[in-house]
Amino acid sequence: MGSITLEKVSKSFGTTNVIPEIDLEIADGEFVVFVGPSGCGKSTLLRIIAGLEDVTSGTIRIDGTDATHEAPAKRGLSMVFQSYALYPHMSVYGNIAFPLKMAGEDKSAIDDKVRSAARVLNLTDYLDRKPRQLSGGQRQRVAIGRAIVRQPKAFLFDEPLSNLDAALRVNMRLEISELHHQLKTTMIYVTHDQVEAMTMADKIVVLNAGRIEQVGSPLELYRNPKNLFVAGFIGSPK
Ligand code: ADP
Ligand code: MG
Repeated sequence: MGSITLEKVSKSFGTTNVIPEIDLEIADGEFVVFVGPSGCGKSTLLRIIAGLEDVTSGTIRIDGTDATHEAPAKRGLSMVFQSYALYPHMSVYGNIAFPLKMAGEDKSAIDDKVRSAARVLNLTDYLDRKPRQLSGGQRQRVAIGRAIVRQPKAFLFDEPLSNLDAALRVNMRLEISELHHQLKTTMIYVTHDQVEAMTMADKIVVLNAGRIEQVGSPLELYRNPKNLFVAGFIGSPK
């Protein structure tokens, strides 16, 4: 299960309101992309869902239950950080196992989960390496592995590919889409890259200055942009 609902969620930093008041429904298993220009509030919205930022007002429900004031670890969501958030002194195995060790799981359960994640991510041959001995794409896979082992209700990605080169980005896009296909777990993916949004999403949420301009499938947004902002951003004429 992994449905997420935002009801009248707003966020201010001091006197600056960055998210006015938004409603959004994400169904279990959906691949949702938040797209919009830099500074429009994508990361803030994701961090609110993850519980890393408090809301100023409104309600967040996860599988129907009010999670607005629940601690991040209790929400059952996994945030995938960019690959540079790996522990450099730990092996790939150690990095993937880390959240399970922190959760106090026993050694054999940890071993099963790490090896099964490594299989899914094609990292089986790299478990003993240190992050510096891996390519950018492999490092990103380790970061995803660390999220997978927790078997979250949803994965939250914040521009996970932005520090990879163009060719690798295309590759990783396909890999993440394939992962979604395999796991069928809800994914929320933040990007400022229209191509990423159009190729990966079941549903795109177009953000502009903290407001939702439009929500729809890539085809809906392309064929029927609600306004010039969406048309300009998605790249079809209106
Ligand atoms: P995006 O991820 O779309 O680039 P952000 O969510 O990072 O946008 O930021 C949205 C707005 O909120 C920006 O104007 C940013 O300066 C502001 N902001 C983000 N985090 C903070 C913070 N901790 N304190 C004050 N302002 C912030
Ligand atoms: Mg951001």
